[in-house]
Amino acid sequence: MALESFQQYIDGSFSDASETFDSIDPANGNVWAKMPKATEADVDKAVNAARRAFTSGDWPTLNASARGKLLYKLADLMAANADVLAELETRDTGKIRRETRAVILYISEYYRYFAGLADKLQGAHFDVDKPDMEAYTRREPIGVVAAIVPWNSQMFLSAVKLAPALAAGCTVVLKASEDGPAPLLHFAKLVDEAGFPPGVVNIITGMGDSCGKALTSHPLIDRIAFTGGPSTAKQIVANSANNLAAVSLELGGKSPVLVFEDADLESAANAIVSGIFAATGQSCVAGSRLLVHENVHAQLMEILSAKAKRIKIGDPQDLETEMGPLATARQLVHVQDVVARSVSAGARLVTGGNIPAGFEQGFYYEPTILDCEESVVACVQEEIFGPVLSVLKFKDDAQALAIANDSEYGLASGVFTKDIGRAHRFVRSLRAGIVWVNTYRMISPMVPFGGYGQSGTGREAGAESILDYTRTKSVWINTSEAPISDPFIMR
Ligand code: NAD
Repeated sequence: MALESFQQYIDGSFSDASETFDSIDPANGNVWAKMPKATEADVDKAVNAARRAFTSGDWPTLNASARGKLLYKLADLMAANADVLAELETRDTGKIRRETRAVILYISEYYRYFAGLADKLQGAHFDVDKPDMEAYTRREPIGVVAAIVPWNSQMFLSAVKLAPALAAGCTVVLKASEDGPAPLLHFAKLVDEAGFPPGVVNIITGMGDSCGKALTSHPLIDRIAFTGGPSTAKQIVANSANNLAAVSLELGGKSPVLVFEDADLESAANAIVSGIFAATGQSCVAGSRLLVHENVHAQLMEILSAKAKRIKIGDPQDLETEMGPLATARQLVHVQDVVARSVSAGARLVTGGNIPAGFEQGFYYEPTILDCEESVVACVQEEIFGPVLSVLKFKDDAQALAIANDSEYGLASGVFTKDIGRAHRFVRSLRAGIVWVNTYRMISPMVPFGGYGQSGTGREAGAESILDYTRTKSVWINTSEAPISDPFIMR
């Protein structure tokens, strides 16, 4: 079968990069498409196009309401093209079709939310402590944004950067991950159709250490919005020494889910299963550390292992499939390695731990539960980014909190209890950017998202996130009719 091929989108035109790389279908391990591999020269072209579009042409003179209208149009196009985008995301990342389609439809709401915010940015006026002076501030777009996303949810993670950046009046060079870039490269066609002026949005893909490095260290970049792993984040912060860009970092997680004795176990189990096995565990907010009160531990393990065994593994394009493959061969090897190290250090395999029978092609791995006596085993400490749940017992609230906060990460957390006082105490004390109480994995364009510690800095989504794509200009106006007096005569 002929390979499909994709192009990069720079300065309002689609073009081939001078090099290409193969994209692999995770469901069968076969190369299915050729992707444009942006070189340093391509990056430079894209950043220069974004800089030109920021300073000249139609974009800087477009008012905020008109920018909002373009974003509404993009949202409509996205919803109208949800099927093709979902098909591509599923093909290129292995994420199941019934999730990709639903998520893409919901992502169009993020574009609508920020479309509505575009003309709500306001400055302030000051009753300033100087005679004959007016002082006020203007919120201005920060400039050219480098947006970098990982493979696991590219449409969503780019929307939370692109939508506020464009609403604020910035221009963007978006680097899709080298793993699974197809849906974003196709999305460029929708950006083009929506009518954004050339250079306002540029979409490229390529390798991290060449394309990503060139982009984040480019002197014309004003703002870097990054989602990915903590070690890459550290390189990006170093790269930004070149341009002193403002940087936001959305990084990994090892999110704890706490289940107390009084919780509705069946309901908690459904949330836990979705929290760890949805997207085959390749979710930054995966509830990968389950902390259970010792009195309900055995019962919950029984419920969870029955549910894990019932998960229907299969072709991710099949709407009946509940769990697809991991995105890459590299990820499969990583998951196998952490599980093997954890089992040899004493973790007990409750269920899973293998490549499922009949799925040796592609990058499949069973839903896996590991019961752990100690928090020192690899599966409790390291982000696995796969369908592996690590379980620890606790005796009381104090021990539950101590274990929950014993992580360098701090992205999300879940608390299952019927005791409202306890819920509030844990909301206050958990060191995490998100606390879900009696629910898990809820997101909305209205609600900020981001982490503590090694999970990053900055918040995406929510009205405030648009401010991170602006800077404040202070304006002073002398209203006096009198001429300015000689500065060397002190009064
Ligand atoms: P990664 O850090 O390896 O790669 C992310 C992106 O950075 C890719 O586009 C890559 O090409 C690019 N990159 C790599 N090296 C670079 C460099 N030196 N300079 C500039 N760019 C570079 O991450 P990944 O393995 O693709 O994704 C998984 C990670 O992303 C996990 O840790 C996961 O938790 C995290 N993640 C976080 C969130 C969040 O919102 N907090 C959401 C999704 C994923």
